[in-house]
Amino acid sequence: MFRLDDRVAVITGAASGIGAATAEVFARAGADSVLAWYPGDDHDIAPVVAAVEAAGRRAVAVETDVGQTEDVDRLVAAAIGEFGRLDIVVANAGIARDVPSTELDDDEWRRLMEIDLLGVFRCFRAALPPMIEAGWGRLIATSSISGAVISWPRHVHYTAAKGGVLGLVRGLAIEVAHQGITVNAVAPGVIVTPQSTDPVHSFGAEGVHDFASRVPVGRNGQPEDVAAAFTYLASEEAAFMTGQTLILDGGYTVSHV
Ligand code: NAD
Repeated sequence: MFRLDDRVAVITGAASGIGAATAEVFARAGADSVLAWYPGDDHDIAPVVAAVEAAGRRAVAVETDVGQTEDVDRLVAAAIGEFGRLDIVVANAGIARDVPSTELDDDEWRRLMEIDLLGVFRCFRAALPPMIEAGWGRLIATSSISGAVISWPRHVHYTAAKGGVLGLVRGLAIEVAHQGITVNAVAPGVIVTPQSTDPVHSFGAEGVHDFASRVPVGRNGQPEDVAAAFTYLASEEAAFMTGQTLILDGGYTVSHV
């Protein structure tokens, strides 16, 4: 079950954290990938391409800023150009910024929305024509428990954007449900990645370590935990699941600790 044999996936934020793990897990499940990497960050996409190839699949890396429509359109075109098809999109790229609301100006607000919310829609919109033509597609976004259920302090714009992803998947899901396309999100809790271990805008490494004691399962999430949920949502077996956001947090948001 949950195989992705010969599927082609576009994955954003693929050079690090959850996106990088997704590329490798998808490859092991049988999928080829087009990997979007962002040059503004110091992440190397070459090891991710190598991991996909080591799993016996192909990966193509495309420099992409999801804040730019032309970049995203080029990314999706690369899937068709290189592989002749596009089955799955994982719109996972995102940023988090710790900013008190008194200092949250319009530019800061817009930049985060551009990436974390409109960036997701850009990826989905570009993928719709080939998916509609094929009569099959899986559109998947990365939300967060901050937005889906709770909020991190001083992250109003992040929480608004990640909450917006829930509305985005609901809205688009009903529009394309009859065309064989499902649209879902995963809302992770704390996952050990460069984002959560950033000491300026998130918990920092020590804060992430301490957070684990507040998670009922007794640990933080790993990128592979999220990749496993994406694999299910991308699979044939998830055909009846659409418009939903899966909370994936080791029980954190249902506990009282
Ligand atoms: P990460 O920082 O490793 O990954 C984010 C990726 O997005 C990076 O590869 C980065 O280069 C890319 N990116 C940033 N701006 C971009 C842009 N303009 N265009 C294209 N790519 C861009 O951290 P991660 O935790 O793997 O984050 C992946 C997603 O998971 C994000 O959307 C994040 O908000 C979400 N998330 C993370 C956690 C967590 O605890 N780590 C929890 C909930 C949600």
